[in-house]
Amino acid sequence: MPKKHNLSQWFDLEDFYKSKNHPKLAKQLKVTRVDQYKAFYYANGILDPMRNFINKPIDTTSGKRSVELNTAVGGVETSEHRWRNYDCCSDIYIIGGSRMDYFRAYEFIMRELRHAVSEVILYFYRNMQIKHFHIGMANGKKRGEFMIKHEDKPNYEKFPGEWPKLPKKDVS
Ligand SMILES: [Zn+2]
Repeated sequence: MPKKHNLSQWFDLEDFYKSKNHPKLAKQLKVTRVDQYKAFYYANGILDPMRNFINKPIDTTSGKRSVELNTAVGGVETSEHRWRNYDCCSDIYIIGGSRMDYFRAYEFIMRELRHAVSEVILYFYRNMQIKHFHIGMANGKKRGEFMIKHEDKPNYEKFPGEWPKLPKKDVS
């Protein structure tokens, strides 16, 4: 029997209350009624369709953050991860995912869900592998802002644009 999830087809509420490096701070997060509604719509409306499109398992690394947790992970004060007002977001990764899987997931959101998201940002390491993938839910201030960020460049680049190419010596 496939595992049943408590929030959506593929996600549990707990997926949005965790931190790999600061599990104790994540445990102290308050789960409000409003958070539960936001997480429900976010998981059902954005992450599930994306997951079903790429047909690979997805996990989250960070969802809601308290002030303490946000500071501990080096998040900016205005981060969507604080889940203030209508804000809701998470950082996700595709288990066993290739760069192409991330590109397909990103392009799927652009094509099918652009009005449902706030900011979608794909972060790249210097070697142009994927560092992390931030997906926010449309929140009344922001909608459909697509960007990429290179580790060694100061600015966010608007997308659509060119996907960064791997350095020549890498083959994947
Ligand atoms: Zn994020």
